[in-house]
Amino acid sequence: MFENLSERLERSFKILKGQGSITELNVAETLKDVRRALLDADVNYNVAKRFTDDVKKKAIGRNVLTAVKPNELMVKIVRDELAELMGGTAAEFKIDGNPAVILMSGLQGSGKTTFSAKLANLLKSKNGKKPMMVACDVYRPAAIEQLKVLANQLGVPVYSEEGSKDPVSIAKHAINEAKNQGCDVVIVDTAGRLAIDEEMMTEIAAIKKAINPTETLFVVDSMTGQDAVNTAKEFNERLDFDGVVLTKLDGDTRGGAALSIRKVVDKPIKFVGTGEKVDALDLFHPDRMADRILGMGDIISLVERAQQQYDEEEAKKLEAKIAKNQFDFNDFLSQIQQVKRMGNLKDLVSMIPGVGKMVKDMDISDDAFKGIEAIIYSMTPEERKHPSLLDGRRRKRLAMGSGTSIQEVNRLITQFDQIRKVMKQLQGGKAAKMAKMASR
Ligand code: GDP
Repeated sequence: MFENLSERLERSFKILKGQGSITELNVAETLKDVRRALLDADVNYNVAKRFTDDVKKKAIGRNVLTAVKPNELMVKIVRDELAELMGGTAAEFKIDGNPAVILMSGLQGSGKTTFSAKLANLLKSKNGKKPMMVACDVYRPAAIEQLKVLANQLGVPVYSEEGSKDPVSIAKHAINEAKNQGCDVVIVDTAGRLAIDEEMMTEIAAIKKAINPTETLFVVDSMTGQDAVNTAKEFNERLDFDGVVLTKLDGDTRGGAALSIRKVVDKPIKFVGTGEKVDALDLFHPDRMADRILGMGDIISLVERAQQQYDEEEAKKLEAKIAKNQFDFNDFLSQIQQVKRMGNLKDLVSMIPGVGKMVKDMDISDDAFKGIEAIIYSMTPEERKHPSLLDGRRRKRLAMGSGTSIQEVNRLITQFDQIRKVMKQLQGGKAAKMAKMASR
C-alpha cells in the first residue's frame, strides 16, 4: 500500500540527516521533495500545497530540542499532519435505530455490492447485529444475483422485488420487511453507472429522501486517484453523504484519493476495503494510515493483537510474582507461548515501528524460540522455579538434554536474570508511583 510514496518521503527526509538544525533553507528543500512526492502520488494540488505550507510553519516555528534530530522532528511533524489531513481521529459509524438504515452510493464497479456484504458480515460477526441486504439495482439482474449469492454465503436475508422498476418503493418495503423479520440493520445497495449521470443522481437522491438513512456512504475505488475525489465532490453536492468507503487499497494505489478526499469533500473516510474477500474490510484510522505511509509499522494493531491474548487474571498473578521476585522459567515459557499465539512471527515483527522494511526480505522462522523452549523443557520443576539451582553441572545436563550448547544455556540464563532484574525495577517504579498517588 502506497509503497512508492513511502519510499519517496523517506528519501526527502534524508536531506535533513546530519544537519545540525532546521533552517529555512533545508526545510524548503525537503518540503519541495515532499510536495513532489505527494503530487506524484496523485494528491490534489491544493491539498499538497497547503500541506507542505503547514508543515513548514510548524517546523520553522518549533525550537529544536537538542535531543531531537532535525530529520526526526520533520518525520514527526509530517506524520501528525498526514493523520490530520485524513481526518485526525477515526470517524464514528452509527448503527443505532430500529432498524438502522445504511444507504450505499457510488459508480458502477466501485465496490458497493462487495462492501455491502463486507459490512453485513462485520455487523453480524463483530457487533451481534441482524442485518438485511436490499437489492435496489433495478437495471441489472446480475447485480441482484451477485448480492443474493454473497448474502447466502453469510446467512443474511436479502430483500428484492423481481420485475419492479421503482427503487424508492423497494427500499421502503424492505425497511418494513426488516422490522417484520426482526432485522436491526438494513443495508441498501443501489444502482451505479459507469459515469455520473443525472438520472442516477436523481434516483439515489429520491431513495435517500424516502428512507432517511442513518448513514449514507459513498463507495469509491481508490485506484482512480483524482477521479475518485471529483466523483466524491459531485455525489456529495447532491447527497450530502456521511462518509466515504475507499475500496481496493490492496492494489498498487498511489495514495491520492486517501490523502485528498477528506480535505476536498470535508467528509471522513470511514472504511477501507483491502481485498475481494468478505473479511477484507478495515475501519479507517487516519493515524495508523499515516504511520504506514511513513513506514512506521502499525504498533496499535500489534497491541490489539496482544490484547486479544491478554488474560487479566494471569497478568495479575504474574505481577504479584514479579513483585516478590518469583518470576521463574515457567512464567518465561508461558510468555513465549503467548507471543507465539499472537500470530506469524515475521508478521508481528514487521508491525514494530521501523522494522518492517528491514525484515521484508529476511527469513524469520516461527522456530526462533525452539532452542529456548527446549532448554526450559529440559529443566526439572525445581530448577524452573528456582533458577539459582542451575550450577555448572546442571547447565551441562541442560545443554545435552536440549540438544543445544553450554554457551546457549549460559546465554539464556544470563538473559533471564537480566529480564528479572528489569522487571523488578519496573515494578519498584510502579509501586513507588502508586504510593505517591495514594499519599496525595
Ligand atoms: P459495484 O458495481 O459498485 O457493486 O461493485 P462490485 O462490488 O461488484 O465490485 C467490482 C469489482 O471490484 C469486483 O470484481 C470486486 O471483487 C472488486 N472489489 C471490490 N472491493 C474490492 C477491494 O477492496 N479490493 C479488491 N482487490 N477488489 C475489490
